[in-house]
Amino acid sequence: MNSLLQRDLTQTDDLLQRVKDFSASFLSGIDTLPVRREQSSYAGFNLPEHGLGADNAFTKFRERFETHLAGNAGARYWGFVTGGTTTAALAGDWLTSVLDMNAADKDGPAYQVEIDALTMLRQLLGLPDTFFGCFTSGATMSNFSGLAIARQWLGVQLGVDVAQEGMGALSSAKILSCVPHSSTVKSMAMLGFGRNALVQLPALPDRESVDIEALKNYLEEHKGEPVIFVASAGTVNTVDYDNLEAIVALKKQYGFYLHVDAAFGAFAACHPDYRHLLKGWEWADSITVDAHKWLNVPYDAAMIFTRHPSLQLESFKNAGAAYLGDPAKDFKFSHYTPENSRRLRALPAWSSLVAYGADGYADIIGNNIRLSKQLGDLIDKSDNFRLLAPVRLCGVCFTTKDPSAVDEFLAALSARGIVFMTSTVYQGVPGIRAALVNWRTTEQDVEIAWEEMQSVYNSMECEKV
Ligand SMILES: *Cc1c(COP(=O)(O)O)cnc(C)c1O
Repeated sequence: MNSLLQRDLTQTDDLLQRVKDFSASFLSGIDTLPVRREQSSYAGFNLPEHGLGADNAFTKFRERFETHLAGNAGARYWGFVTGGTTTAALAGDWLTSVLDMNAADKDGPAYQVEIDALTMLRQLLGLPDTFFGCFTSGATMSNFSGLAIARQWLGVQLGVDVAQEGMGALSSAKILSCVPHSSTVKSMAMLGFGRNALVQLPALPDRESVDIEALKNYLEEHKGEPVIFVASAGTVNTVDYDNLEAIVALKKQYGFYLHVDAAFGAFAACHPDYRHLLKGWEWADSITVDAHKWLNVPYDAAMIFTRHPSLQLESFKNAGAAYLGDPAKDFKFSHYTPENSRRLRALPAWSSLVAYGADGYADIIGNNIRLSKQLGDLIDKSDNFRLLAPVRLCGVCFTTKDPSAVDEFLAALSARGIVFMTSTVYQGVPGIRAALVNWRTTEQDVEIAWEEMQSVYNSMECEKV
């Protein structure tokens, strides 16, 4: 064994203790760190000829990066849709690396951890047991998986096996949606549908929710053609939902494939006041749910649920690899997911679901929604800002009094590091999105953020005078 590896092996305890001390101090001070830092410039860095050892590597990491670290996991990072990490999820994630199990297989406890986590998630979200679930690396891969199943389903309607024969067997397939997430369109490119296969249906006035009449008209005009519809259950701009109940009624009539992208919006199902937004989703063919957003586990976790595991198997099986067994007989998650070797990414979710339960998650969701509405009310009453859409759930979409000031406002806000939001364009108007999906966020954070927004805005006004 290499002498440094040998030495580190005997010093594992010390190193873990150092990392633990650093982690504890980072987390306890997270609220005082800038929530985000501008991209920094770094000197070049080369592979050492002779290694430094784990201890020195950690020291080097601190020297090179510590002053650039930001509180992205903190309470006032409201950019994109970014959750944090609950304490229990963090413990689960650490254990995942310690155990380093390959969750491809049915052997050992890894399989059962994933099965348990998926069972608890179905219960949390009120999804029936008929939904087969798998963990993926993120909602993009869940949408990819859902569309791979849909592609196989299209083939069945046309009497071809697309996974076997290729996309050439599926000419002119169309995917319908109203406000698809960019990852759906990316998945269309990756799966060979092509981005141009998207048929974008109109939304209802002042909404990001599909016009059901327009969908019905399309289906009527294309009767007999197999169709995939990707519904949004939570758009990233205004957290609007397609009317799943009405879509399901059309599905019963016209028989299309329904994939629901509920990456973060699925968690409305945890709360009695918002559950209705997902009414009917149990009739979907596949559903994407992200874990590293509103479930508040670390990055690298999402789920794909489907009622068609056999089509999923056809899409993702490792055929003809004797050492992986017969996909039809030996269950392995790696025959159902894009990845083969897999991290035990279900463990952080398992740990957090056990730690906080249905009540705990209803509290996180309810709290984030209440705080989003609180911020929305402040904006609504203010002279400096205006809402671009009502606050429906965990997202606040708004603009500055003069929307052409959005970029300047956001740049100044970000530079001060107290709160972070991202820009968007909604119905042609430059806007700002704040997504509150972190378990740490409190009323006090909203107050701090609001003061900061006023102060940044006023300082801009001064400059203009
Ligand atoms: C975030 C998001 C995705 C993509 O998820 P990743 O986890 O970033 O891969 C897809 N759909 C929706 C609605 C999202 O919010």
